[in-house]
Amino acid sequence: MNIAYTEAEEAFRIRCRDFLETVLPPGWGTPAHPVPADAEERARVGLWWEKTLYAHGMAGLSWPREYGGQGLSWVEEVIFAEECARAGAPSGINGLGKGLLGPTLLVEGTDEQKRRFLPPLLAGDEVWCQGYSEPNSGSDLASLRTRAELQGDVWVITGQKIWTSNAHLADWCFVLARTDPTVPKHRGITFLLVPMRQPAVKVEPLVQLTGEAHFNQVSFDGARTARENVVGQVNDGWRVANTILSFERGVTIVGRYAHFMREWEAAVEAARTQTGERGPLIEDSHFRQRLVALWSEIQILRFHGYNVITQLQQQDKLGPEASMLKLFYSEMHKRLGDLGMDILGAAMPYASGMDSVGGGTLHRAFFQARAETIFAGTSQIQRNVIAERVLGLPRDQRS
Ligand SMILES: Cc1cc2nc3c(=O)[nH]c(=O)nc-3n(C[C@H](O)[C@H](O)[C@H](O)COP(=O)(O)OP(=O)(O)OC[C@H]3O[C@@H](n4cnc5c(N)ncnc54)[C@H](O)[C@@H]3O)c2cc1C
Repeated sequence: MNIAYTEAEEAFRIRCRDFLETVLPPGWGTPAHPVPADAEERARVGLWWEKTLYAHGMAGLSWPREYGGQGLSWVEEVIFAEECARAGAPSGINGLGKGLLGPTLLVEGTDEQKRRFLPPLLAGDEVWCQGYSEPNSGSDLASLRTRAELQGDVWVITGQKIWTSNAHLADWCFVLARTDPTVPKHRGITFLLVPMRQPAVKVEPLVQLTGEAHFNQVSFDGARTARENVVGQVNDGWRVANTILSFERGVTIVGRYAHFMREWEAAVEAARTQTGERGPLIEDSHFRQRLVALWSEIQILRFHGYNVITQLQQQDKLGPEASMLKLFYSEMHKRLGDLGMDILGAAMPYASGMDSVGGGTLHRAFFQARAETIFAGTSQIQRNVIAERVLGLPRDQRS
């Protein structure tokens, strides 16, 4: 097995570095130029970033050229993700479109759907959100009650979604809706592409502890979408939904190890500067051991990620094994966030202010990691998937 990059891939890495140096403002990604604290400003920067990537031919690296991509491989995609993490590049605003819907349309969509939806998605002209969860259907997603009825050439959608990230910024939503209530719950679901900007779609923000509203409740009250905006077959949406989930649990994570390394370095830096009762924390064996253990876990994540890329190159899609990566990274990230808080908390009575050491990097890691063990399926659900569908253990009859 050769896990080194080729010369051509290393040359591509240099190109990425040069590009990032050219387009990012000086000092970007350092404590002197932290991620904007204001949500609106972050969204503005996110949109600017999407458009900048597209304008410079750095969007959709592994997507076919005919749909606005660059026709490169998954390896280049990972190298660019690594370099973006290293440079602290901004998060785009269209992660759900680029990371989830786009790759799924490439596998499941018709040619017409690919031509219609992929180029504006990559260009940042159409932002997407994900309409899966409902007030009583989170982990048990297949119990969803939003329904869609075909009336002539139009689907009419009625129901409520919740926790819809970025719905307030989105132009389109990929929605799971029940289209046949007479069959068992996993059947009778259809995957629809629904325009958000119509009077029958109401978006209400859900304000978080931080005061920001990243999520929303979305009501569809007779919302309409064209008959052809079904991905896959009618009543075959559960299979398409699982294709998306495997991208969400697998591909979007590859390359993130570089981002975790930055956070790990911030933890090391904090341990150097913070002093506990026994001197600088970096000299305390308790903190040293935890730092080394996490460094090792981040490397393991990196190699897990390479394994995912190999699978993708061989078969286009991921199976339930993607849950292993999701579970591993989100639980590891929680330990990293906890360590950051312990380092700061060991030296300060309160570690919860967002603006302290490292421009808030460790605080963000702490909060973000908690969300990661919930979205895209909770850690408990990932364990169920691994037990039943990877290891073949008997199904829990209570679930
Ligand atoms: C940051 C963030 C962003 C999100 N963005 C979106 C989005 O854009 N679109 C969207 O559709 N959804 C989104 N979600 C929602 C997310 O998918 C759900 O929160 C998640 O699926 C869990 O569902 P729930 O919150 O209803 O919890 P529940 O399903 O009610 O679970 C509650 C608890 O019970 C446990 N549990 C439930 N069933 C089982 C079982 N069978 N075995 C063992 N334990 C079980 C769970 O693990 C959890 O600990 C987002 C969530 C977060 C945190």
